[in-house]
Amino acid sequence: MEFRNLGSSGLQVPLAGLGCNNFGRRCDEAATKAVVDKCIELGAVFFDTADVYGPRGLSEEYLGRALEGRRQQVILATKFAGSMGDGPLWSGASARYIKNAVRASLRRLQTDYIDLYQVHFPDPKTPVEETMQALDDLVRAGDVRYIGCSNFAGWQLVEAQCAAKAAGGARFVSAQNEYSLINRRIERDILPLCGRFGVSMLPYFPLASGFLTGKYQRDAAAPAGARLTAAGPMADRIFTDRNWKLLDGLQAFAAARGKTVLDVAMAWTAAQPGIGCVIAGATKPEQVEANVRALEWKLTPEEVAEISALAAD
Ligand code: NAP
Repeated sequence: MEFRNLGSSGLQVPLAGLGCNNFGRRCDEAATKAVVDKCIELGAVFFDTADVYGPRGLSEEYLGRALEGRRQQVILATKFAGSMGDGPLWSGASARYIKNAVRASLRRLQTDYIDLYQVHFPDPKTPVEETMQALDDLVRAGDVRYIGCSNFAGWQLVEAQCAAKAAGGARFVSAQNEYSLINRRIERDILPLCGRFGVSMLPYFPLASGFLTGKYQRDAAAPAGARLTAAGPMADRIFTDRNWKLLDGLQAFAAARGKTVLDVAMAWTAAQPGIGCVIAGATKPEQVEANVRALEWKLTPEEVAEISALAAD
């Protein structure tokens, strides 16, 4: 397993991680444990969850129990700010909310520290200075080792890093945004800023919810039980003419090299500048195996350019 430094920190993260938003929804507790076991066996020991996954805490609870006795072997990332209850006291990035949210996550994860604590969404109602100060307090108290952001625009990342620098406090070492061969918007915004501001990108939806595995075909019935088979609006957003054409191109590129579309999607993502850990989700251990294997393929710069051209707007 290749390891990379997370942003400007000394934390080494494996290139293959696991996104845990299936836990508590598409994966019951036994299925969660099977996926987690496979990740640890293969060295994909970075787990990305959130308090809202599951929903409302179940992903963290299942993950905490699945990791019992193995906490030191893994890197645990979670997030706060999404709605955990009704009304304004149960979401956001205020100092009051953060200090309550971290205690709840620590309890559900059955741990006394979180490796990476991420602001899930920017909170326009809270001054960024307040958020960064509250996060710095958590780092100093030892509840949290490093901090990151998610769904921030480039300017919001810069604003937060400057506020933290002015206060002499902890800065973000990661950013998490949607990024894949079907959605390259962050290349025009936050991705070019990552290196300059000491941040690694943790791309979410790297497989476009399974579309980039190649298991969906334009003129065939979608596979039973798969995520996009059931998901109406999300499937409509992904099953477009533009994306089917892209898939044809990726399939030809992969076949010519004895690879799969999944291999191409994962290897291309990992090859982009600024990428830390690729946090694809998985519902089965076999998927973890395929995803970890895909990241072992190192593309040449020419291959990266050829794939990027296929995925140009
Ligand atoms: P994804 O990684 O693009 O797709 C994962 C899904 O694709 C799996 O759940 C599985 O679904 C299918 N799949 C994965 N590997 C496969 C394989 N080898 N063969 C066939 N099918 C495979 O989407 P995601 O899991 O939603 O996103 C990744 C992670 O990013 C999340 O788990 C979460 O941690 C994070 N995330 C963050 C945000 C944010 O706002 N920060 C938003 C979304 C996600 P089925 O088996 O059900 O088909």
